[in-house]
Amino acid sequence: MKIGIDLGGSHIGIGVVDEKGNIICKEEKYIVEKTNIEKQIEEFVIEKVMQMQLTNEVDEIGMAVPGTISNNKIIKAVNLGIENYDIVSKLEGILKLPMRLRNDAKCAALAEQKYGELAEYKNSIFLCIGTGIGGAVIFDGKLLEAQNVPGFEFSHTIIQKNGIMCNCGKRGCFETYASFKRFKEKIAKEFNLGTIDGNTIKSFLKENSEEPRLKYIINNYIEDLSIGISNIINIFEPEAICIGGSFAEYEDILKEPLKKALLSGNLLFNKRDDIIIKHAKFKNDAGIIGATL
Ligand SMILES: [Zn+2]
Repeated sequence: MKIGIDLGGSHIGIGVVDEKGNIICKEEKYIVEKTNIEKQIEEFVIEKVMQMQLTNEVDEIGMAVPGTISNNKIIKAVNLGIENYDIVSKLEGILKLPMRLRNDAKCAALAEQKYGELAEYKNSIFLCIGTGIGGAVIFDGKLLEAQNVPGFEFSHTIIQKNGIMCNCGKRGCFETYASFKRFKEKIAKEFNLGTIDGNTIKSFLKENSEEPRLKYIINNYIEDLSIGISNIINIFEPEAICIGGSFAEYEDILKEPLKKALLSGNLLFNKRDDIIIKHAKFKNDAGIIGATL
């Protein structure tokens, strides 16, 4: 069996995963204090992995990281405030298990490909639309990965010349227009909601579905999102697209408009009659399961 660790922006999940992708046991911790994050991660991982090893035969650890990985090191995880962090060297010696790191969206894509919604397709795309936009491509049954840098930074492809400044230092990135955080912020600002809490936004959307200003924001968002996704489709021509992250929870409001925008707009080079958009099967467990793959 393997241990999968999901390092989130505000939470760590650790689980023992069997050969069929089932989580046998799981432990979680919320990162409330944003100081000494590295120490918090190490202490929690060491304690829980050691406990799990007592009752399970574990041969390997995988970790899903929300950021850039190179040579099995965390180069940058912006939401955690971590840079150049060689967690593997620190933990491997103590835990006596080989440990491998991979970007979290790529881990989630692998989980969906092996056990979830993308299992029946050879060519697919996985997008995690939440605070940012993570992505991965499965091509001819394999996860595509670049050599020395992670690559597949769909979120930082430019969809607007001289557009909004992105955290990455460029302007007009797909993510600055189409992340789910951005969508929630726009609604909160327009209607003075004072919060971008998911439940508040969700009930506001349900109760005000006919409000013209809200419709305008939704249409605008779908337009930006469909431009970014069409660019990916035009390059990879996937059979299916699987969407995870908080976007997936609003599927009833956003999925059909997105499909319509992609199919009826003048965005796709090769016209299609239909496009398969799947809702990710593994929500919070995607990182743990995918990390073991
Ligand atoms: Zn960017």
